[in-house]
Amino acid sequence: SDVLLEVRDLKKHFSMSSDFVLKAVDGVSFSIRKGETLGLVGESGCGKSTLGRTLIRLYENTDGEVLYKGKNVHQLRGKEVNQFNRDVQMIFQAPQASLNPRMTVEDIVAEGLDIHGLGRGKRRERVAELLELVGLHKDHAQRYPHEFSGGQRQRIGIARALAVEPEFIIADEPISALDVSIQAQVVNLLEDLQQERGLTYLFIAHDLSMVKHISNRIGVMYLGKMVEMAPSGELYAEPLHPYTRALLSSVPVPDPTIKRERIVLQGDLPSPANKPSGCGFRTRCPLAVPRCAEAEPMWKQAKPDHWVACHLLDM
Ligand code: SF4
Ligand code: MG
Repeated sequence: SDVLLEVRDLKKHFSMSSDFVLKAVDGVSFSIRKGETLGLVGESGCGKSTLGRTLIRLYENTDGEVLYKGKNVHQLRGKEVNQFNRDVQMIFQAPQASLNPRMTVEDIVAEGLDIHGLGRGKRRERVAELLELVGLHKDHAQRYPHEFSGGQRQRIGIARALAVEPEFIIADEPISALDVSIQAQVVNLLEDLQQERGLTYLFIAHDLSMVKHISNRIGVMYLGKMVEMAPSGELYAEPLHPYTRALLSSVPVPDPTIKRERIVLQGDLPSPANKPSGCGFRTRCPLAVPRCAEAEPMWKQAKPDHWVACHLLDM
């Protein structure tokens, strides 16, 4: 099968105090296919990063399961954990904060090699290769992160992730903090690396325009739930969920023959501590009906490869 990672009704809750449980991820199901890029979007606080971190065991799961190549990642033991920690890597949003300022580029990039005992005798050569691979120069190895631009620091973060030859990379808002011109360069680099190495990506962003070009499929999250998932082109052409439509209506359309009505969402994202009953989106949904307050919409397949959670699809 071409499924690399399968997520089944996954929940990640945090107990914040005796009477407050933050349901950051609250029952999501989907899969990621080998070699694809799955884009994941939603407003900040919707659970994207928590989902990413739970998928790769940075967090324990509260309920449900994550299968990587058929194995439950939260039940791996011993050597399986080491292998998994090589197979999956993460690239973070703010390279300035995620790169230790007191470490040289060489030590940063070689971190994974050191942890997994892969660098012996060849550490410097491997780092030089990795720097070249991401478009930096091997002479950069003895410098410190502050000597580089934001885009270069993100390249260092990518080199660090690639050092252990992963299969699956979660990129958590890797371009959100970069200038628009630099964003395209980093996206192109990630695409080239994917082609050369057969990598699979989960690409997290808060904005649909950032994931459009790199994603094969896109998932949209709202308040800890997945509300829609479809092939990228189909999601743009025929979004089914009112939230996706609203997100898309704020993305500029280059093709003037496509007309999109601007949908402005009312109100703010509700506090995850005080989620609406029924559909979590109902307090801002322009199409809500009484049933939306009574029952939570099911996550179901509306068309081949196109999943959505909205009562309107049943009517
Ligand atoms: Fe809107 Fe109801 Fe659909 Fe939720 S279930 S998105 S409130 S129409
Ligand atoms: Mg985040």
